[in-house]
Amino acid sequence: TEEGQLLELNGVTRLYGDVVALDGLDLSVPDDTYLSLLGASGAGKTTLLRLIAGFEEPNRGELLLNGERLDGKPPHLRDIGFVFQNFALFSHLSVAENVAFGLRYREVGRLENEAEIRERTQHALELVGLEDFGHRGVGEISGGQRQRVALARTLVTEPQIVLLDEPLGALDANLRARMCDELRAIRERLKVSFLHVTGSETEALTMGDTVAVLAEGRIAQVDNSRSLFTQPKNPASARHLN
Ligand code: ATP
Repeated sequence: TEEGQLLELNGVTRLYGDVVALDGLDLSVPDDTYLSLLGASGAGKTTLLRLIAGFEEPNRGELLLNGERLDGKPPHLRDIGFVFQNFALFSHLSVAENVAFGLRYREVGRLENEAEIRERTQHALELVGLEDFGHRGVGEISGGQRQRVALARTLVTEPQIVLLDEPLGALDANLRARMCDELRAIRERLKVSFLHVTGSETEALTMGDTVAVLAEGRIAQVDNSRSLFTQPKNPASARHLN
């Protein structure tokens, strides 16, 4: 375990029958990073997020957060946030109740003070610019707003790292630009790292201060955005940058 490493994956392998989704993958994410994870369809991006979040376990290898083993821990004890591609909100709950749910579920038995739940929920809604939308139903708001509710639901638990699965995929160009600005603003305000999965080179290079290229279940290259762009090191990563 190295000092200053937030997340470390060592030799992580995930098999589905004969399919090798992740093939002995190694990756270190330093503290305070916006990491873009770039890969083509089928490269293993979603599988990697699911392993980090704890929805699945690796067949081999280990995952560490701040030097502590993650594998084997249930998702709600991992201190990791996950914003799903389809947002996965509860349609029968209000915006505020969706956000509060993140808190109740994550901290069950620890936080039973309704006033504190309300306060933290309101703060999370402010972070994503939805402070006046708490009472709305999630069916009454736009797709871009739903995504920000999903982000607030994760941020309210104050995770150390937030996993974003194709966060711009469902948005039109205007909403995409707005979400990019908001993610940057949130990063400036909170001490939180992001792991942003995308299949778009432009998006990976624009958003990430570091870009990791995933190809065939392994990390082909990790670098800061600028040097990755100017000096792709091997054919696997060069292919993604064309
Ligand atoms: P996409 O961008 O299309 O979602 P991805 O990079 O997220 O792709 P994964 O979904 O992680 O890729 O899939 C990696 C490989 O593992 C693919 O070959 C996929 O078909 C396979 N795979 C993923 N999940 C399963 C599963 N539950 N059962 C069988 N095969 C799976």
